[in-house]
Amino acid sequence: MAVNTENYPIPITEIEQSAFCQTDEKLTSKSLEEEFNAGVRWQKLPVSYMRKTPDELDNNIRHAREILGSKVVILGHHYQRDEVIKYADVRGDSYKLSEYAASQENVEHIVFCGVHFMAETADILSSTKQNVILPNLTAGCSMADMAQTDDVLDCWEDLNEIISKETVIPITYMNSTADIKSLCGENGGIVCTSSNAEQAFEWAFERGSKILFLPDQHLGRNTGVQMGIDTDDMVVWNPFKLNGGHDENDLRKAKVILWQGHCSVHTRFTVEQIEQARKTNKDVQVIVHPECTLDVVKSADHVGSTEFIKKMIADSEPNSTWAIGTEISLVNRLSKENPDKKIFCLDSVVCPCSTMYRIHPAYLSWVLDGLVEGVIVNQIKVDENTRKYSRIALERMLSLR
Ligand code: SF4
Repeated sequence: MAVNTENYPIPITEIEQSAFCQTDEKLTSKSLEEEFNAGVRWQKLPVSYMRKTPDELDNNIRHAREILGSKVVILGHHYQRDEVIKYADVRGDSYKLSEYAASQENVEHIVFCGVHFMAETADILSSTKQNVILPNLTAGCSMADMAQTDDVLDCWEDLNEIISKETVIPITYMNSTADIKSLCGENGGIVCTSSNAEQAFEWAFERGSKILFLPDQHLGRNTGVQMGIDTDDMVVWNPFKLNGGHDENDLRKAKVILWQGHCSVHTRFTVEQIEQARKTNKDVQVIVHPECTLDVVKSADHVGSTEFIKKMIADSEPNSTWAIGTEISLVNRLSKENPDKKIFCLDSVVCPCSTMYRIHPAYLSWVLDGLVEGVIVNQIKVDENTRKYSRIALERMLSLR
């Protein structure tokens, strides 16, 4: 899913990131046909679904859901728009949802309202008899797209040649393709989430002297700094340059090699936004996600995963004020769910994750209608070999507890 631009390939998912950014507060779904007017390249649907109004889709979805009953479970990631998350049987971050999917042995169909790597993880962790469905196949993740399998394999080969006397342990963030998880599983590595990255680093340093961290350089750097590793001991591997853009000695000296990937949503937050929030809001507390840059993380009062942010806000004092550095659909929802607190997004431009936003109710309606008719559309199936090794890397993560 990559296009060639002047210097190097940028994932389409990254290019389309700003398609639905706006400056007013309203982020309400239109018909799918109208949303296509933003020039996005999403999966095409039959015209009848493209033109259905939000109310028609709502009736359709509720009707199909009733017929399907306990055969189906709908999972909704926290970053999904309100018009989709309202149908979710369970809400959560990627790991919580995959774990839930794995525990639902009697459910035939798992409809994952999230992005591609999440549906893959649910398929890996669930039974082979279950079907995992992603309502819109183009709902990828720009960060996961930044670590293409061939580039990572090249990096892995080069690194092991250069650093032949030491052991490099690969760690991949959950937000990566099944191929990358499998590469980690096959080569003594592990998967991590934003809440257990530190434990995964400890696990890796017990087994090797260096870490290759994929694909989010910011989560990797923030975790390293948190553990007392100097930024001078971390290098960023640029897949478009020879040896990642480093001379061999630098790579031999480095403790952590960070893949040059980032989240298009969380890197929008800046220290200036934090300063502005503090200037205009007395006693504001700033909380950000660890996919933000190091300077933002250092300036914030709190840093943590999506679930951590949710909990910290829920447990906070009434009348407290919060500036949040994470995806806007979640920030808006937290604001609605905590009416006794003042909650706002650090970035005044309303900018949803463009790939999460690709799950429009029309897609959900279409896949559910298919199931009612006995037709499985948009199934996500990870091949046997990839499944085997990625499961090993995921199970190593589970053993961290
Ligand atoms: S918020 Fe960032 S990491 Fe999460 S799906 Fe969107 S682009 Fe990917």
